[in-house]
Amino acid sequence: MADVHSPSVRSKNMAAIKGKDTKPEIAVRKFLYANGLRYRLHRKDLAGKPDITSFKYKTVVFVNGCYWHRHKGCKFSTMPKSNTEFWVTKFQGTVARDMRNYAVLKDNGWNVIVIWECEVNNRSYEEWVATRIRANV
Ligand SMILES: [Zn+2]
Repeated sequence: MADVHSPSVRSKNMAAIKGKDTKPEIAVRKFLYANGLRYRLHRKDLAGKPDITSFKYKTVVFVNGCYWHRHKGCKFSTMPKSNTEFWVTKFQGTVARDMRNYAVLKDNGWNVIVIWECEVNNRSYEEWVATRIRANV
């Protein structure tokens, strides 16, 4: 398989695959903590092991990488030029799994919030996230 990424991009992607304690996730945690919200991390007993769980507000937060989780219309949601078919299938699997997990959580009464990596980078999520967690809407 041809590899289009530089080593630094690749290691960043590996962290994203691993999906735990990524840089954007840590930024969101710090922001929430500074705003008085308390949470648990990576609860295995919840669908999709949400990055952040607030039991008080019955809200889960996923901090999703734009590339792996296919942020629609986002410039970071690029498609590899080689092995495209393989990647399309793989990405579809990831997105389908995300949707299933969100549906299970919602069915169980959880408020599901998705924050995209690009929203963390430009800090636009800071305007709405605390309110949406506390409002459980
Ligand atoms: Zn994005």
